[in-house]
Amino acid sequence: MRLENFVGNQRIVGLLRRGRLPQASLFTGPEGIGKKTLALSLAALTNCKDGSGTDLCEKCSSCVKAAIGNHPDISLFQPQKHFIRIDAMRELNREVRFRPFEGRLRLFIIDQAETMTHEAANSILKTLEEPPETSRIVLVSAFPHRLLPTIRSRCQDFCFHPLDRKEIRTYLENHLPGEDAELRAAFADGSIGTALELNLEETLPDRDRMLELLTSWCRRQSFEILYRKCEEQPLRSDLKKRERVRHYLDLLQLLGEDLYFLQVKTPDRVVNRDRITDLEKLSEGISLSWIKDLLYDIDRSRWEIDHYVNPLMCFETLWLMNPGEASNAGNRHRQV
Ligand SMILES: [Zn+2]
Repeated sequence: MRLENFVGNQRIVGLLRRGRLPQASLFTGPEGIGKKTLALSLAALTNCKDGSGTDLCEKCSSCVKAAIGNHPDISLFQPQKHFIRIDAMRELNREVRFRPFEGRLRLFIIDQAETMTHEAANSILKTLEEPPETSRIVLVSAFPHRLLPTIRSRCQDFCFHPLDRKEIRTYLENHLPGEDAELRAAFADGSIGTALELNLEETLPDRDRMLELLTSWCRRQSFEILYRKCEEQPLRSDLKKRERVRHYLDLLQLLGEDLYFLQVKTPDRVVNRDRITDLEKLSEGISLSWIKDLLYDIDRSRWEIDHYVNPLMCFETLWLMNPGEASNAGNRHRQV
């Protein structure tokens, strides 16, 4: 991909397209924001035969080979069955010594570098410390804290940030015409990868189910009614599954945050834009402190889900913790 088409993180893009890639670098930041894509584009740019400098020509033999992942001087290492193992890193240690076959530099990109086994990571320490002049190594990781400190200290760090909603929307409008760019961008949490993978046909009915539950709870405050709704399909089956409850909690959090944004008069930050009228109505009947309590408890429920509390119990307890607004006499005082 041409660098001029790269979305977001323009400071890093600008720095690296003009200057030289350090001998060993580490690209960190959330998943799906283009770290690996940029590493591959920079690798292609380094070897582009056009030589004009700041972007790929996409026409020369080098660019063509790079685009189909078949350039002899560009190597991409990725986990096989969840791990990057020592065999792969031994290959890197060996290959890194060779001069470029046809390009200016040899580029080695280690994607999801945090999946390197201890052995694999230890085996490249010396290479990272003193890579040959004709080679560059780029580690890519969304979870850099899982890397050995000795790996991190040998690389120059480039920290990528989540994209803003407008950047994602523009990208989607250019690449997925006809799709609901506005809504996808809102749900994407700063990641083009998430925006592209998002299955709106599945997510929106789940979201609507949570909005209905939330609305009914705020109006009726009846645990009986809530319990009955949880007994209806597909909720009845879903609430037995940890993954599904976690997903519903995520959707509830987005709804809770939307209510918060409406209350503090920042409606442009609302994610569930297609339901904004219903959210506005709901928001009128509840207080800011109730919303904050709800968000706090959703977060706690998520922690419980991850720590093996029964998912159904976890989901139902969340509502008990947050009685409807009318019965919510004053703010709950919490120790933080
Ligand atoms: Zn080229």
